[in-house]
Amino acid sequence: MLYKRSSQLFAEAEKVIPGGVNSPVRAFKAVGGTPIFVKSAKGAYLYDEDGNRLIDYINSWGPMILGHAYQPVVEAVIEKAKLGTSFGMPTELETQIAALAVSMVPNIDKIRFVNSGTEACMSAVRLARGFTKKDKIIKFAGCYHGHSDSFLIQAGSGAITFGSPNSPGVTAGTAKDTLLANYNDLENVSTLIEANKNEIACIIVEPVAGNMGCIPPNIGFLEGLRQMCTENNILLIFDEVMTGFRLAAGGVQELSNVNADIVCFGKVIGGGLPVGAFAARAEIMNYLAPLGPVYQAGTLSGNPLAMAAGLAMLKALDSDRAIFKRLEEKTQYLHEGIEKVLKENNIIFTINRIGSMISVHFDADPVVDFKSAAKGDNEIFKKFFHGMLNEGIYIAPSAYETWFITDALSYEDLDFTIRAVEKVAKTL
Ligand SMILES: *Cc1c(COP(=O)(O)O)cnc(C)c1O
Repeated sequence: MLYKRSSQLFAEAEKVIPGGVNSPVRAFKAVGGTPIFVKSAKGAYLYDEDGNRLIDYINSWGPMILGHAYQPVVEAVIEKAKLGTSFGMPTELETQIAALAVSMVPNIDKIRFVNSGTEACMSAVRLARGFTKKDKIIKFAGCYHGHSDSFLIQAGSGAITFGSPNSPGVTAGTAKDTLLANYNDLENVSTLIEANKNEIACIIVEPVAGNMGCIPPNIGFLEGLRQMCTENNILLIFDEVMTGFRLAAGGVQELSNVNADIVCFGKVIGGGLPVGAFAARAEIMNYLAPLGPVYQAGTLSGNPLAMAAGLAMLKALDSDRAIFKRLEEKTQYLHEGIEKVLKENNIIFTINRIGSMISVHFDADPVVDFKSAAKGDNEIFKKFFHGMLNEGIYIAPSAYETWFITDALSYEDLDFTIRAVEKVAKTL
């Protein structure tokens, strides 16, 4: 495949945008080569500026769970746009999407909308600190919660890819309030809690990790966190920006039967427009301004176009719950196909999968936390990435990312992908 126009466009972009991109992983630094400039997308396919068609396994990093340019979402946005694009005043639409989200997700009474997953997590932590009147937080190495200061401590995919687990610009004062634990390691969490008695406001966790590849929680991990939080007056925050409305209508809370105190959303909830949200039981949410003392605001929060897109997306998922099963079956099919051809070609690998999330790691050992995820062979991954790209398959340009399966993928697409893996495996 040729990427002549993409290369030209990237050169132009680099002159006026740092690194040519508005979010670092897009720049292909971890895999080398030139980022591909997209012209359009429909269903399971991307069409780039050189006229190539690619099967998309990133799907805007998760949101496009029903495929690109999903008709009901597109129509909802167009119709709303005609009526004005932003008011900075309440609209009925905000209540409609809030009510639907609250009805789909267990254990939440109220939800507030923001403009990104970053904002959702940042606000959730502020709320937890205000509510508990404590300062410290526990996060897990390799979990990503957006790019706000408190979280840029071993923050998964993007940050790790660039070898800057702790970003300059985050003050020592801020960093000292973020305690770092190993994913799937309850003992580690328990030790941190003991060492910081009555100082920890919240534990924030990706209840299924998706930013160091896909790492499901070990049996008992989420239950253990829940118990420790309850016993120590710590709020448990599930960052479901990636998993919410993807692994189940009610996210990992529904799957695991573990209740979080605050839940963060993004990605799917916005149907492809910039949306994030955080939610909790009323007692906690009422601590937010204007009812309570914890301040949080946004000029474009609850934006009508974004809410129209999100509402159309949630309605589609709510009215066809079989989607989640269908997605899981497709993902399993892909898993089994890839496993078979990699084995036949004597490639060393581990595949992690849950629901519609899957990741391929070039290492023999189980991938259960950041350390084991980081052990994978990056040189093989680079070759694999470019090989797949050459076959017309777009996976994330970093070994630390999950593949997101969309309902728009057909079994023909999956077979095509498995054949591509087979071809590429022979070159590794
Ligand atoms: C993507 C992501 C975020 C950040 O969301 P943005 O919309 O990119 O700010 C936070 N948490 C998780 C788990 C994510 O996957």
